[in-house]
Amino acid sequence: MKRLVIVGGGFAGVWSAIGAAWKLHEKRADHIEIVLISPHPDLHIRPRLYEQDLNDVCVPLDSVLQPVGIQRIQGMVRSVHPVEKQIVLDGERTMSYDRLVLAAGSRLHRPDIPGLDEWAFDVDTYEGAVKLDRHLRRLPHHPLPGREVVVVVGGGFTGVEIATEMVDRLQKIGLNDRRIVLVEKGAVLGADWGPHLRSVVEKALDDLEIETRLSTSIRSVTRTGVELDTGERITAATVIWAAGMRANPLTRTIPAKKDELGRLSVDEYLRVNGHPHLFAAGDIAKAKTDETHHALMSCQHAIPQGKIAGHNAAADLLDEPLKPYRQERYVTCLDLGPWGAVYTEGWDRAVKATKKEAKKIKQTINRVWIYPPVGNTADILAVAAPDASHRRNN
Ligand SMILES: Cc1cc2nc3c(=O)[nH]c(=O)nc-3n(C[C@H](O)[C@H](O)[C@H](O)COP(=O)(O)OP(=O)(O)OC[C@H]3O[C@@H](n4cnc5c(N)ncnc54)[C@H](O)[C@@H]3O)c2cc1C
Repeated sequence: MKRLVIVGGGFAGVWSAIGAAWKLHEKRADHIEIVLISPHPDLHIRPRLYEQDLNDVCVPLDSVLQPVGIQRIQGMVRSVHPVEKQIVLDGERTMSYDRLVLAAGSRLHRPDIPGLDEWAFDVDTYEGAVKLDRHLRRLPHHPLPGREVVVVVGGGFTGVEIATEMVDRLQKIGLNDRRIVLVEKGAVLGADWGPHLRSVVEKALDDLEIETRLSTSIRSVTRTGVELDTGERITAATVIWAAGMRANPLTRTIPAKKDELGRLSVDEYLRVNGHPHLFAAGDIAKAKTDETHHALMSCQHAIPQGKIAGHNAAADLLDEPLKPYRQERYVTCLDLGPWGAVYTEGWDRAVKATKKEAKKIKQTINRVWIYPPVGNTADILAVAAPDASHRRNN
C-alpha cells in the first residue's frame, strides 16, 4: 500500500484530497491510501469570518472526505522531512509518505507591538471570530470606555471588509452612536488594488462615515484603545488587527526557496522546487497563475491549486502525466457592509459591479461557490476532476 498524505484541512487541503481521490477513482487504483491531517474536524470557511452570522462557517471534513474514501487524522504536523519522506506529528509520532501535499495555509502575523496579543481581536481563525463576536455581544451590557468605537488596523481586503461590516454589527447590538476608524500604515488603502477599485472603496468608506488614518501605524494597544505613531490616542473598546498574512511556519522546516511571506516556490505542477515527492497548494505556495502573475493568498487560488496538487500527487504515484496549474481569470469581490460590495475583473481590477449588484455576487461566492459538495460520492467526484468547475450549483 502506498500513502499520499495531505497536511491541512482548509480549502487547498480538502480540494487536494478530493482531487487525488478523483484520480484514484478514474484509474480504479486501490493500492494507494489518502490521509488528510488537520487539527480541526471542520473546514472553516475563512472568507466568511468577518460576517456577523457564524452559524454556517464550519463544514465537517468527514462529510466531504468519507464518501470518497479519504482517512482523516486529527493532529498537528510539527515538521516535514522531505529527504526521508517523513512527517513528525504532535507527540513526536512519525509517519512516512510516498507523496505529500502541503496545504497548511497561512496565519495572521502579529508583530511585537505592546498589548497587541492581549487586547486586539482578529477574524483570521474561527476561534478568533467567535471571540470577537462574544465581545461585541457583551458590549451593550458593560459601560466600557469607547464601547461604540472600533479601530481596525490594516487597510487591505480583510480590514476593509470587517470595518464596513461593523456598521451593521454595532447597530444590531444597539450601539448607534458608532465610530469606526481604519488605520493603514501605507499611504493608500490596498497598495496593489489600482485606482478603479480603490476609488470605489474610498467612496463607500466615506458614505459609511468610516474614518481613515493613512501612513499611520499603531504604537500600542490597551484594554481601552490604541495609541498611534502620530501621538493620537483613540479610546476604543474594540481593536481588530487585520494587517499582514504569513505562510504557515511549517515551511521553515523545509530546505527550499521561500518568498518574503514564507511561501514555498513551486513549479508549474505545484511541486516544491528541489523536492520531487512534495507538492504545495494554497496560501503556503508561491505559484505562477500565468506568464506574469503569481497566485495571491486567496480561496480563489487555493481551490484550483488544491485540485491540481492532489491530482498530480496521485498521478505521480500512478506514473500518469501531471497537469500544469494555470489560472488566467482573476476577479475580486469585496464586501462593503451596508453600502453593498464591489466586483472587479482582471489584474488591473476593472470595476464591473458595485453596491447591491456586487453584493449579490459576493453572497453567492461566500455562501455557495466556495463550499465543497458534501455527502454524495458522485457529486464530490464530479467537481474534483482537474478540468471541472469547482462551483456548486452554478
Ligand atoms: C476574513 C477573511 C476574508 C477572506 N476573504 C477572501 C475572499 O473574499 N476571497 C478569497 O479568495 N480569499 C479570501 N480570504 C483568504 C482565504 O480564506 C485563504 O486564502 C484560504 O483560506 C487559503 O486556503 P488554504 O487551504 O491554503 O489555507 P487555510 O484556509 O489557512 O487552511 C489551512 C489548514 O491547515 C491546517 N493546519 C495549519 N497548520 C497545520 C499543521 N501544522 N498540521 C496540520 N494542519 C495544519 C489549518 O488548521 C487549516 O485547516 C479571506 C481570509 C480571511 C481571514
